[in-house]
Amino acid sequence: MTNTAKDIRPLLEKPFAGLRLEPRELREILLSDDWTSIAAAGHRDRIRRHGGRIATWTAFRVINYTNFCNVDCSFCSFKDEIESERGYTLSLQEIESKTLEAKALGCDAIFFQGGVNPNLPLSYYTDAFRSIASHGLHVRALSPVEVFRLAEKERMTVPALLEILKEAGLGSVPGAGAEILTDSMRQILSPKKLTWQEWCQTMGDCHQAGLPGSCNIVFGSSETVDDLVEHLTYLRDQQDKTGGFLSFVPWTFQAQTKNFPIRHVRSWEYLRMVGAARLFLDNIPHIEVSIMVLGRELAELGLYSGADDISSIVIEENVLASRGLKTIRAAERFLSEAGFEPHRRKLSYEPWCA
Ligand code: SF4
Repeated sequence: MTNTAKDIRPLLEKPFAGLRLEPRELREILLSDDWTSIAAAGHRDRIRRHGGRIATWTAFRVINYTNFCNVDCSFCSFKDEIESERGYTLSLQEIESKTLEAKALGCDAIFFQGGVNPNLPLSYYTDAFRSIASHGLHVRALSPVEVFRLAEKERMTVPALLEILKEAGLGSVPGAGAEILTDSMRQILSPKKLTWQEWCQTMGDCHQAGLPGSCNIVFGSSETVDDLVEHLTYLRDQQDKTGGFLSFVPWTFQAQTKNFPIRHVRSWEYLRMVGAARLFLDNIPHIEVSIMVLGRELAELGLYSGADDISSIVIEENVLASRGLKTIRAAERFLSEAGFEPHRRKLSYEPWCA
């Protein structure tokens, strides 16, 4: 997926002249093997937005409340069939005890996510959110497919459901489950998951309900450069309309099942994506790198290629193999050693104050 002939450096200057990159120009950038110029331009863009001295981090616990799921994504090894004997759903007591543990460890937010489990009533979610919020932690919860299917099951619109969940304590919704937002890739990844249009519409509904969040890409399968361009264009278009994506996080697929082909994403290819995303997503304020998925060395380079945040620390993660930071001290040390002043933030990106 490279094109060595084209000099893309004039394109990389467009954002600095106040001009928007077109999707066809992003395509050229993502086909270029001049990754050092792309990463350097991404870093310049990060400096003009956020300065080059500070990098931010946050502390949250993931609570995977159930692994029963009826969606069947081909890459997922987390789920268990509905009614299977191996699956689990956490009780409200277990959720509360995990929340209290997270609070004691210094977290200020819970990331509440699970499978699409049609056996859970709406009251399960509202009780859980009330419990988490009653201990003073921010509730970032569900993903577009969980929201959408719950609204369907409860026979209500997504905006009506969001109002109920918000009233119970929901504070933000991550743009999880996007992977690659194109028709052809969604057929391969998960035909039963949301279409790209449904995903965008649901995130737009969240934004309009005052529930901001993140968005991501997960690449390193059989996607083409056109899939990558389409995906990033849909995110930018959605952000133009509803403006609730606070950050973008580029991830790569991890090997989870034999049913889904993944390929090795080279380090430079990942950094090219970080830089290109920083330049193209001109309406999304922050770019995060995930130490959990990519490891420390690549995350450190990501902070010099357009990213300004490491998203960590993450306490407890059951879906992916984690290479992440587990303690507050580890996050501060990682960023200091990488050459930045570490600043803790809330999930809202406001500065965190003890
Ligand atoms: S990725 Fe999420 S929606 Fe897909 S099968 Fe796994 S748990 Fe279900």
